This record gives sequence, C-alpha cells and structure tokens, in this order.
Amino acid sequence: MIKFPIRIAIVGIGKIARDQHIPAILSNPDFELVALISRSIPTTDFPVFASLEAAFDAGVAIDAVAICTPPSARTAACHAAASHGCAILLEKPPAGTGMEALTLKQIAYEAGVQIFASWHSRFAPMIEAAGEWCASHRLQSGQITWYEDAAKWHPGQDWLWRAGGFGVFDPGINALSILSALYPVTWQVQHARLHVPENVEMPVRAQFDLSTEASTISVDFDFRSTSTETWSIHLVAQTGATLDIVDGGAGVSIDGAQVAHGKSQEYAGIYRRFSELVKMGASDFDISPLAIVEDVFSAAHVSHVESITI
Ligand code: NAP
Repeated sequence: MIKFPIRIAIVGIGKIARDQHIPAILSNPDFELVALISRSIPTTDFPVFASLEAAFDAGVAIDAVAICTPPSARTAACHAAASHGCAILLEKPPAGTGMEALTLKQIAYEAGVQIFASWHSRFAPMIEAAGEWCASHRLQSGQITWYEDAAKWHPGQDWLWRAGGFGVFDPGINALSILSALYPVTWQVQHARLHVPENVEMPVRAQFDLSTEASTISVDFDFRSTSTETWSIHLVAQTGATLDIVDGGAGVSIDGAQVAHGKSQEYAGIYRRFSELVKMGASDFDISPLAIVEDVFSAAHVSHVESITI
C-alpha cells in the first residue's frame, strides 16, 4: 500500500520532463519528486542518478516512476521500477510497438504494480465537452489536420527520425488518441501514403483515411509547417451537425459557434489521474492510437522526398 505523497522519480530528463512533468509533479501535493534519472544532466535541485538501479542501490525510497525517454527505450526502466514495486507512468506512446507495449504491461502485471499509458491530449480542456457531443451524434465524416514544424518543436531529436521514433506520428498520434477516446471503435486504415525524407527513416508527412462501416475520416499529418501549428479535428454527424476541436483540444466549436477555449493543463490532468490509479490500485493501458499507427505503417505506399535538417 503506497502512502501519500507518492515518492516519484522521473526517467529521461529531456524536453517533456523539463517542460511538463517536473512542474506538474511539483504543483501536485499527492507527489514528492525524489530523484531524476538521467544519463546526461549534471546535479540539480534534485538527486540525479544514472539509472533507476543506481537510485535504488543508493537507498532512495521510490513509490512511482514516470518514464519520459523515447518510446523504444523504456524496457530496462520498466523492469527496474516493477521489480522494486513502483507504479509506472509512461509518456505517450507507451512503447515503440504494440507488442513492446504489451510486454511492458505484462511486466507491471506480473509484479503487481499499476501502469498508466498516458495520452496527454486526452486531458486537453475541451475533450470532455467534445465527448458529450460525440456521445449523442453518429459520425458520418471528418478531417484531422495536424501540422507543426519539427524544427521548432523537436530540435535535435535524432531518435524521432530513426526506426521506432515515429516521425510525424509523434505529434500525429495525439490526434489519434483524441479520436479513439471520443469514438472507441475499430478504425480501419485505408489509402495510406507516407513521405519519408531521403536522409531519415521515419515519415515527415502521412495521409490516410480511417473508416468504420458508417463513417470515414481523412487524416493529414505534416511536420513541415513553418507558419503556424494546426492541430484540429473537424467532425460531421449524420444529421449534418458539426464539431470542431481546435488547438489540440483547447477549443471546441459546435455548428461553427465557439463553445469555449480553455487554458491547457494536460499534465496536471495526467498526474491527477495517476494519483487516482495508485489510490485505486488500478491500471489504465489503452494502446489503440498506437495500433492505428502500426496499421498505417504496414499498409502505406511510401515515397521518398527531399532530405530534412534535424
Ligand atoms: P527528448 O527531449 O529527446 O528527451 C528524451 C530523454 O530521454 C533524453 O533527453 C534522455 O535523457 C533520455 N533517453 C534515454 N534513452 C534515450 C535514448 N536511447 N535516446 C535518446 N534519449 C534517451 O524527448 P522528449 O521530447 O522529451 O520526448 C520524450 C517522450 O515524451 C516521447 O515519447 C515524446 O513523444 C513524448 N512527448 C514529447 C513532447 C514534446 O513536446 N517534446 C510532448 C508530449 C510528449 P537523459 O539524457 O536525461 O537520460
């Protein structure tokens, strides 16, 4: 039984750990940040260890671990956390492949610890309002447009462009996490096309359709938008009613009229949920957004496009 506050360590101190996890943990009284696990950062206000095992060997008491490494570099930390009875929070996507994700789930299950595959976009402020609309509307069609500038949001992240790094699906999977939460049905991938720059292994652009028997959504992810970000989902119901989710879930419009636009506090939501799961002794592990991405990769026609600067 975990006592509160939950003593938590973060593994992988990169952009998201610094920008979001550390502030979210520090502002949630259910948590106490006890260690940072990093291969590279110097000493900070918190004790730093090169590995979780080194922190355990040094006698640091840890109840939970937030793993913020790239998705394909999580197995060792999961093993170490689970074998010391720690609850586990995984950044999105939970792993590099669906099979790897299920392995992490099994590691946690066998050790009897909670595991949370977090999807931060599901905690965007207007997702609940969007969910109410979706619950009362049968979907007919839609468009997902997810454009951002890789150089602005992911500078120097070489891993993102290598196998298991997801390329444009790194942001794009956020849209799929919203869609699959709003409509948790089996989405079939069709007409998938990937554009892979000559000098990397992962796509810079992806276009595909997602279908059910009654609806089709066209999806366009582009990592080369140097003007502004577009993170929007346009849904049309069979009645003709429309829902627009904009700014990654920060805003919602119904039938063209803005309902609300909220301040984004996605990581505060993630840590509230993680605390609840630990209290309940429960896990939350949905890999459906990752399954869609894997289907796109396996079905897509791939074209090579000009090299990019990482
Ligand atoms: P990042 O800046 O590259 O940081 C990842 C950190 O993981 C590295 O700084 C490194 O930290 C550690 N690491 C351990 N093994 C590694 C390996 N084999 N290769 C590279 N780094 C390794 O990446 P990030 O943007 O924080 O993304 C991490 C995860 O958060 C990804 O799953 C991403 O999808 C997710 N995420 C990112 C954002 C964003 O805006 N950047 C937003 C939401 C979610 P140490 O040197 O400290 O060991």
